Amino acid sequence: AAELTGRVAVVTGSARGIGLSIVRLLAERGASVVVTDINVEAGESSAAELRKEGHNAIFIAADISKETDVIQLIATAIDKLGSIGILVNNAGIVSTGPVTDIDLQHWQRLIDIDLTSVFLLVKAVLPHMMERRSGRIINIASVAGLNGGGLLGNSCYAAAKGGVIAFSKGIAREAGQHGVTSNVICPALTETDMTASMPEAQRRRIIDAIPLGRAGKPNEVAAAVAFLASDDASFITGATLEVDGGFMRR
Ligand code: NAD
Repeated sequence: AAELTGRVAVVTGSARGIGLSIVRLLAERGASVVVTDINVEAGESSAAELRKEGHNAIFIAADISKETDVIQLIATAIDKLGSIGILVNNAGIVSTGPVTDIDLQHWQRLIDIDLTSVFLLVKAVLPHMMERRSGRIINIASVAGLNGGGLLGNSCYAAAKGGVIAFSKGIAREAGQHGVTSNVICPALTETDMTASMPEAQRRRIIDAIPLGRAGKPNEVAAAVAFLASDDASFITGATLEVDGGFMRR
């Protein structure tokens, strides 16, 4: 049997981009997967595509910044597929621009979607994982959460992602004795719809700062998630894994 056979994985923001690559790879490794996203049309069609490829995949709509949606999402996922063994907090929005241009409403939306959602999802899933004494929590932050996001001028996004990194480490400590691991992945520039509209000059500046000389691919982030979800990573928790072409080491 494939490595993740019998495991149920929930991947937020998996209608497209990095999330879709993650959910597809976990399904290819044998997991039953929950595609969840605020974008209903894209989410439905991504789940349908996965089923066509022969995978066990369902779509559940949720705005992960809302507690009622998150509680409903987890209850439905468990009801339809069984206990959740893998939670991947991937959904997020990016925000760029000088802090003086960002109003309080925007800041709060960013924190709600990029950081509060991770708290809500972990809070909803962790009791079930602890009860079964097994579980993998994998959070997608960003190199911006490590370095302040200087190249793009995205301090607010960096603050949210920095929060995700610290939260992941804290959860590793809290949940370790219950058999649950918690790790965080920090991608650098990755080719997705989120970054497609980035001005060429900006893209060039970032790529020039990446030792491997190119942007990452969604599959390369997915591969790191699949590793952290696998038995090979059984003794890894509280780790920060940079999938960044060397960006943080330049
Ligand atoms: P994307 O915009 O292509 O996909 C994000 C998905 O999240 C979308 O399908 C969107 O509908 C969903 N989403 C947004 N708000 C939501 C909400 N409130 N509830 C539920 N779903 C919601 O983005 P991506 O490039 O695939 O990025 C995925 C993750 O990786 C994000 O957390 C992002 O911050 C992080 N990241 C991306 C890059 C990059 O260069 N692309 C770099 C570092 C980190």
